[in-house]
Amino acid sequence: MLSRPDVAVVGAGPVGLAIAWRCASRGLRVVVHDPAPGSSASHVAAGMLAPVAEAYFGEHELTGLLTASAARWPAFAAELTAAAGVDVGYRTEGTLMVGLTADDLAEARRLWAYQQGLGLPVTPLRPSALRDREPALAPRVRGGALAATDHQVNPRRLVPALRTAAERAGATLVPAAVRRLSDVDARVTVVAAGCGAAALTGLPVRPVKGQVLRLRAPGGGAPGFRHVIRGYADGEHVYLVPRDSGEVVVGATVEERADTDVSAGAVLRLLRAAVDLLPELAEYDLVETLAGLRPGTPDNAPILGPLPGRPGVLAATGHHRHGIVLTPLTADLIADLVVTGKADPMLAPFTPDRFAPAATADPAGTDADGRSGAFAPEEEHTWN
Ligand SMILES: Cc1cc2nc3c(=O)[nH]c(=O)nc-3n(C[C@H](O)[C@H](O)[C@H](O)COP(=O)(O)OP(=O)(O)OC[C@H]3O[C@@H](n4cnc5c(N)ncnc54)[C@H](O)[C@@H]3O)c2cc1C
Repeated sequence: MLSRPDVAVVGAGPVGLAIAWRCASRGLRVVVHDPAPGSSASHVAAGMLAPVAEAYFGEHELTGLLTASAARWPAFAAELTAAAGVDVGYRTEGTLMVGLTADDLAEARRLWAYQQGLGLPVTPLRPSALRDREPALAPRVRGGALAATDHQVNPRRLVPALRTAAERAGATLVPAAVRRLSDVDARVTVVAAGCGAAALTGLPVRPVKGQVLRLRAPGGGAPGFRHVIRGYADGEHVYLVPRDSGEVVVGATVEERADTDVSAGAVLRLLRAAVDLLPELAEYDLVETLAGLRPGTPDNAPILGPLPGRPGVLAATGHHRHGIVLTPLTADLIADLVVTGKADPMLAPFTPDRFAPAATADPAGTDADGRSGAFAPEEEHTWN
């Protein structure tokens, strides 16, 4: 490195690469550190952009953030496609939420009522209307609802596209892990290392395991359904995400574990629920089983903003189940903070200082001689 960069991003997942792209596009000199770009949670993720279907009880502020980020996706996808020359698989058919049995439907309807109460666009559909939209749904499916604004993107196209866009904008990738923040020499360091952020910052980010399957439609054709389908099937939650390539992502377990082993029981439960909802999936090829680790936080919301006690260090981590949908907004808000030094009010509920200060002390952030490893931002930066 010839001279000190303006921004060092630790982590080249979707979040880190999008921040790098946005910062480099604004004329900053950006270095991204990652030994294995795109190899973590994003490699496993389904890519649902689902602020409506994922609006859960008690997560009001998170829902607002998800909705704001999802609204940026159409322009973000178009801009990224132009910048990288890659189709990222952004699709807008919408999401069908369905219940297999009467009990499943009753559970689903409680959530839909909550979502409608927030003013989110959830349209209940009779079984006949459901099957008009997706004739491949099982006749047993009792009912459903349409979340027309919940879209999808292919994370395995997204991450390489972001890398290309960031590099074309001038960002440099260093293919090595950062062991301590004090090893990084930049005016501003952005920790976007997913689950790896915990060891670097002491922030309460924990791995939440998710197992998924990938199926492929026979004969090389497209899957026999177009919507993302999220369902309850005999009490089992499952989602089915069709891609133009013929792939269908079936997910996902949610487990408080840090391994990435795939269990026979999880595969069985996911496949049974998937086939209960869409019987034709039994004829598809099973092409991949794998598990990934979501960067979870105590309140399921991301951690975005200045790290207390560490001038010049920003966190952009803890995106848990929502890192793909939150990529555009996270990148814009963090790039704005880097450039202006002022935090957008939207960040307020999500800053690192909502956790106990002790939890954000950096265990590895001080040199042997006691100097802080981070660098103070330039004077105009206030980090508020
Ligand atoms: C089964 C499953 C399904 C999912 N489905 C969806 C979905 O449908 N929609 C959605 O929005 N989200 C989904 N997610 C969540 C989403 O994948 C994550 O929230 C997102 O990938 C987080 O992005 P990230 O860039 O912060 O972290 P990651 O994608 O985990 O990337 C982190 C990067 O940091 C690097 N790194 C780690 N430590 C260091 C270090 N010390 N030095 C340098 N580099 C480091 C890693 O190598 C990695 O490349 C899903 C996740 C899983 C597991």
